[in-house]
Parts: sequence; structure tokens; C-alpha cells
Amino acid sequence: MGPWKVPKRKRLGNTPLRVTQQKLPVLQRLGRFSQLPSIVCGQCQQGIETQEHLFFGCHYAREIWDIFLSEWQLQIQVDGMKNFVKSVTHLKMPRKMRNLMYAGINAVLYNLWHARNSRIFSGKVYPSQDVLKEIKRQVTHRVLQLHQLRVCVQFVSD
Ligand SMILES: [Zn+2]
Repeated sequence: MGPWKVPKRKRLGNTPLRVTQQKLPVLQRLGRFSQLPSIVCGQCQQGIETQEHLFFGCHYAREIWDIFLSEWQLQIQVDGMKNFVKSVTHLKMPRKMRNLMYAGINAVLYNLWHARNSRIFSGKVYPSQDVLKEIKRQVTHRVLQLHQLRVCVQFVSD
């Protein structure tokens, strides 16, 4: 057996794990954002712009989460980072669904951050509907990538 011939089961088994691992650190790495200066949130002018506020407390984030979660029919707590991470990691669902859920959640977090940066650095304000459209687009792209990856893995392991 040549070095290129990895047993089929092992190869297929590792791939979803790697895909999942790519996702999980993104949630953990969000801790970096807690170094933000303590200033009033430019989105709502009602709270100090902390990580908690930006992603969970701000009405802008709330609106996007609410629509996203009801469209995806997900039971995830979005009242704060701690409960959020807990409810995401404890959610029981098939692996494929889980990957899809991570892609969706990552897209929400990424776009909330992106919307905040666009507002601050280029004065561009995105209505929540535009953000939700962008989230959908990104998830679709991600799903196509995952599908392609699976097809490639099947091709090399056959
Ligand atoms: Zn706010």
C-alpha cells in the first residue's frame, strides 16, 4: 500500500470534523473583540459598544438574530455570549445540519461585525434586510463549497 492510499473510512471521517473545527474557533476568537474601546454604540446610541452589546444586546443585532432564527427554525439563545455558545454547542442535530447551522451562525456574526465596521469606517449603514440577504448569499456559497469538497473526497477515495 503506497503512502497516498489512506483508508477510505478514515479519510471520509476526518473531513466533516475539519470543517466543523474551522467553524468553532471563530466563536471562541470573538473574545478578541472585547478589547474594543468603551464608547456608545453608533447603531442605537443606547448602549456602550461592548462585544456583548454589539452581537447580542443591540436592537440591530436582535432584529437580525430574530429573523434569522425564525427563518431557520433554530432554538438558540441570543441574550448573551455565554448562553449563546452554550446553546449552540448543546444543540442536538445531524452532522450535516450542524455544519449548515455553523455556516449560518458564522455568517450572522461576521456580518454584524462587518456592518459595524462599515458604519464606523465608511459611514455606510446597512438595513437589517440587506444584512440578512448577504447572510443567505454567504451560506449558499458555503454549502456549495462543502458539497464540492465532499465530491472531491469521494473522488479520491474511490
Ligand atoms: Zn447598539
